Amino acid sequence: MIPFQIEKIYLDEKAEKDSISQSVLKSFPHIPVEKIQDKRALIKKFLSMHDPIGTGKKNLFITPFYGRRLKPCPGTSGHICCGYYVINAITNCPMDCSYCVLQGYLNNPLLTLYSNWDDLLWEIESFLSSHPQPFLRLGTGELSDSLALDPIFPLSQLLISFFAEKNNGILELKTKSVEVNHLLHLNHRGKTVFSWSLSPMKMIEREEMRTASLEERIDAAKRCKDKGYPVGFHFDPMIYHEGWEKGYQETILSLFNCIDPNRVIWISLGGFRYPPHLKAIAKERFPNTEIFLGELFPGRDGKFRYLREIRVEMYQKMVEWLRDVGPDLFIYLCMESKEVWEKVFGWAPENSHHLNHIFEERVREFL
Ligand code: SF4
Repeated sequence: MIPFQIEKIYLDEKAEKDSISQSVLKSFPHIPVEKIQDKRALIKKFLSMHDPIGTGKKNLFITPFYGRRLKPCPGTSGHICCGYYVINAITNCPMDCSYCVLQGYLNNPLLTLYSNWDDLLWEIESFLSSHPQPFLRLGTGELSDSLALDPIFPLSQLLISFFAEKNNGILELKTKSVEVNHLLHLNHRGKTVFSWSLSPMKMIEREEMRTASLEERIDAAKRCKDKGYPVGFHFDPMIYHEGWEKGYQETILSLFNCIDPNRVIWISLGGFRYPPHLKAIAKERFPNTEIFLGELFPGRDGKFRYLREIRVEMYQKMVEWLRDVGPDLFIYLCMESKEVWEKVFGWAPENSHHLNHIFEERVREFL
């Protein structure tokens, strides 16, 4: 059973013979299927509907994708990027967070599963074997939640087995779900990191619809850790709200009541940020959202963020609370400037290359 609703499957005729399509149709014979010749017309139809994003989340489109699906993380200008690579195996997500940038980013609102799986594996294989860098971090959580469509097709299972054989790449699966049971038995060789995005429970209930609760996420992380997977956590986006200090402190305590900090590979911190066009979309879709209540101003890259002083205060306090429970935790900032790194940690990576080297050392030390 899938933990969310799929009303209909749209099957691109070009994907009909692919094994992913066959497998999905066999597993869900009760979901109506419509064959599609003209993919643009389908997308146009959805874009013209009321709440295309919300409607798209209930409809699955299976289609091949012929472009590049492995790309450097877009990062943001003037900020230190961690040198991450994103694998786009699926797009869109059945969960529904008020702050999700995909709402204003995707020009195809349907939940989309790309059927030419072999092409994707070939692309990753060629990338890893030809890349001069001795260590690369790759992840699927950019255009969706990494585990979002696993109940429909076990993409992560295939990726974990694939990365288990690689020597210069590590896969990160970032999620707010708990769909891990089918992955626990795999021989992962420590080459996959499971990571959860964490927020205070009040924020989860108000801003992260259809996601797992904090307790469920921590429990899933514990199960993965017990099976030898490295686990990581992302306090991102951190939202400045009334009572934020208490909320984040309690979240940290709940986490480390269950997880030994020495078994955590990394923790990231990132303040809420958004491109200008997101606000109108999110306010229309989530009239009760409180994410825009803080004072947010446009930065050099055009994205709105909290004032630098506020971000620094939030990160400094988080680092202090985290270090209280785990003095050796590896903590980094996502998409922040050198100045902010220096204020928070007293040092800053020289550039992305330097930060990636630090990650490399961290992984070697951890594994
Ligand atoms: S879980 Fe991630 S991808 Fe899914 S709606 Fe929330 S922010 Fe977007």
